[in-house]
Amino acid sequence: MKQYDFVIVGAGLFGAVFAHEANKRGKKCLVIDKRNHLGGNIYCEEIEGINVHKYGAHIFHTNDKSIWDYVNSFVEFNRYTNSPLANFEGELYNLPFNMNTFYQLWKVKTPQEAQDKINEQVAASGITDPQNLEEQAISLVGTDIYHKLIKGYTEKQWGRKATELPAFIIKRLPLRFTFDNNYFNDKYQGIPIGGYNKLTEGLLNGIEVKTSTDFFEKREAFKAIADKIVFTGHIDEYYDYCFGKLEYRSLRFENEVLDQENYQGNAVVNYTEAHIPFTRIIEHKHFEFGKQSKTVVTKEYPCEWNSGMEAYYPINDDKNTEMFKLYRTLASEEKDVIFGGRLAEYKYYDMHQVVASALVRVKSIFG
Ligand code: FAD
Repeated sequence: MKQYDFVIVGAGLFGAVFAHEANKRGKKCLVIDKRNHLGGNIYCEEIEGINVHKYGAHIFHTNDKSIWDYVNSFVEFNRYTNSPLANFEGELYNLPFNMNTFYQLWKVKTPQEAQDKINEQVAASGITDPQNLEEQAISLVGTDIYHKLIKGYTEKQWGRKATELPAFIIKRLPLRFTFDNNYFNDKYQGIPIGGYNKLTEGLLNGIEVKTSTDFFEKREAFKAIADKIVFTGHIDEYYDYCFGKLEYRSLRFENEVLDQENYQGNAVVNYTEAHIPFTRIIEHKHFEFGKQSKTVVTKEYPCEWNSGMEAYYPINDDKNTEMFKLYRTLASEEKDVIFGGRLAEYKYYDMHQVVASALVRVKSIFG
């Protein structure tokens, strides 16, 4: 008999949920992570008593009551509602696009006036068969919303001109004809009271963990001590990049501690002008209604991804999708390795989705 039933590579949400559920069923688990902390991308670093979302702002939202109840069974969530703002040339606009935004843009006061304005601009553009992202966006929301709130932000995010990006990136652009700044349509949303680390601690309570431990440095030794490996790292790295490297977009974060209580009055402000190099400023204390005397703000700069950098957004174009399929075929032939999570599945997952996916996997294994 081996020392562990499972060695779980990666202490992010997928690994932590899997470990919790396996442990609950009497299985012996070891969770390792190459980072010097647990939690993966939901990890918060405490600065000046404020939980700073180290890998980008994270807001939990879901329509699924069972997932909401599941995460709340480890830590209670607060009532934070995401209502970001956009700053364009010093003017502020509410997001998502709603009656408040339309009033700020055109002083229109009724849904009909707003709809007429958008229809007028869409018709004037004459675009019937959009050939790129710019044409697609204008054909959906007209020129004002596109030029002030979409163009610069999107070009910074992708590092390419909107006219060079494929139309399919934007399938739809939700327009809301009510005065409602709540970004998500989901029934449940919030932030764990005390921060995301409480969620990770709850999930991994009583489970053996080792941080600053890279699976690939002792791959054979880990395989030797466990019946099965749960792998939540990069699938291409697992197979020594035999089909090539899967590509990502990355982000660079610049944190600043400010000697003032409240910098921007909101957790998230987008900067939608092309010439401002960052896309957003996050003021972390507002996620938890903090009253600390100082504040921490983070500027978010999208950038190209190279090996050694954090991989954030998979580039699901044809080339990468085909390459991933080759890796997935190899993975499906493994008897004792379970692949899961955003890096192993080369997929953008929201938190509620990755929790659900881990629970589905648990069910398929343990019944
Ligand atoms: P991860 O959290 O990345 O965990 C994988 C872990 O595996 C990492 O800790 C890594 O260090 C470890 N690992 C990898 N390779 C090895 C190895 N060789 N050896 C040991 N350990 C290894 N979701 C929302 O619902 N709401 C949001 O507002 C939101 N905002 C986001 C903002 C940004 C910028 C990003 C990028 C994502 C956001 N998400 C959000 C998504 C959320 O981060 C993911 O759903 C979730 O973190 C995925 O968990 P995971 O376990 O799959 O991956």
